[in-house]
Amino acid sequence: MNENKTQGQQLLDKLNFKLKNAWEKTEEVEKAKAFEFCQEYKTFLHKAKTDREFEAEVEKLAKQNGFISMEQIRKSNKKLVPGMKVYHINRKKSAVLGVIGKAPIREGVNIIGAHIDSPRIDMKQNPIYEDTGMVLLKTHYYGGIKKYQWVTIPLSIHGVIVKADGSSINVVIGEDETDPVFTITDLLPHLAADQMQKKMSEGITGEGLNLLFGSIPYNDEKIKDKVKLNILNLLHEKYGVLEEDFISAELEIVPSFKAKDVGFDKSLVGAYGQDDRVCSYTALKALLDMDNISKTAVCILTDKEEIGSVGNTGAESTLLENFIASLCYLGNETYNEMMTRECLANSKMLSADVNPGVDPNYEGVQDKRNASYLGKGLVIQKYTGVRGKVGGSDANAEFIGELRKILNDNGIIWQPAELGKVDQGGGGTIAQYVANLGVDVIDCGVAILSMHSPFEITSKIDIYICYKAYKAFWENQQ
Ligand code: MN
Ligand code: MN
Repeated sequence: MNENKTQGQQLLDKLNFKLKNAWEKTEEVEKAKAFEFCQEYKTFLHKAKTDREFEAEVEKLAKQNGFISMEQIRKSNKKLVPGMKVYHINRKKSAVLGVIGKAPIREGVNIIGAHIDSPRIDMKQNPIYEDTGMVLLKTHYYGGIKKYQWVTIPLSIHGVIVKADGSSINVVIGEDETDPVFTITDLLPHLAADQMQKKMSEGITGEGLNLLFGSIPYNDEKIKDKVKLNILNLLHEKYGVLEEDFISAELEIVPSFKAKDVGFDKSLVGAYGQDDRVCSYTALKALLDMDNISKTAVCILTDKEEIGSVGNTGAESTLLENFIASLCYLGNETYNEMMTRECLANSKMLSADVNPGVDPNYEGVQDKRNASYLGKGLVIQKYTGVRGKVGGSDANAEFIGELRKILNDNGIIWQPAELGKVDQGGGGTIAQYVANLGVDVIDCGVAILSMHSPFEITSKIDIYICYKAYKAFWENQQ
């Protein structure tokens, strides 16, 4: 073909950087694999709508794939040897998994980290009240949501109630076809003159996000809040809980619809919670495929990213450090603190998170030359932060160079991007917390539309590419 091109065209091919459409550059057989991969992904999303459910799936898959819990290894006084697979679940909300490589641990490990929490609506600790013959539940939203997106849609309740005797009950209502669902109501347009004049951020208020929960009164004239009593009675019959038990409950309200194919060509996935389950799922799948690697591969899946990676289950906790220390301690005859420090200083990490793709409906919020696009492969984001990169993580050029080489050598289609236009907004990921430990970190993941909404959109080809990229990172990073 080259001989038909002018000298200028040939020079352009050689020198110019151009984004590739991954559908065009992928062979039919690989495209079929992408569709197949996403079929499983959609099923997984339905099983793992909350952090706790995701962790339960992690534990199940880890055991099925020959991973042994860190606690078990410690108790048995065994030493870690290359090829062994270990996992640690932290308070049922975050997890770390590792596949032991042949290289000495001091030389560092290769980490992929993602978060498994998503924006949602949490139930308050004293939620149940009756008003105008209906029972509603008070809520407090979790993470950055646009409140107006969460009214008038079917919602499910997922979570756990810990009773006074210490026993706990898992709750999932709204997912089975025969289950009821819940909803937050909105005002009819006919009476919304005042509401419609308000700013979008104020049209629906935080204290207005009350969940409709029931309306049949208990049959007793002497009782005041009859509907509430009837609901309490039903809850007691079904779960054996008292109103006080809600104080020690974590009940999360999430969209009840299932993950779906989107588009006439079925090229996209629409689902709740793809930020960041699209990256945590692909990272987990890639790790389960790891075998016979030189550097130890570590996958960390944390909670609380959407509220700042805080607490003892978030990325800012000692979870990763402790896991690395355990790898050093259990993998060597003698142990000292410096092993952990050295290992961290020599480690590399992909902070696996989504990036907002350019949306043709909302032009102008991104710099199109430095933004991501659905269907154009793995998004590499050098830095995060807001107004002058403040509070972000900024990867070193040398590390980006290494990553570029791995991706190019393995035929993985990628695109560079930042979150949005300078001074338009911004955000962070878990990257900075791990970078603080001395690890080289870069953000990379999948482009997404309608991020943080009840129905987020991703491209199937990007999801599959992301999985292949994470695999290549673990297999090829020296
Ligand atoms: Mn995220
Ligand atoms: Mn997010």
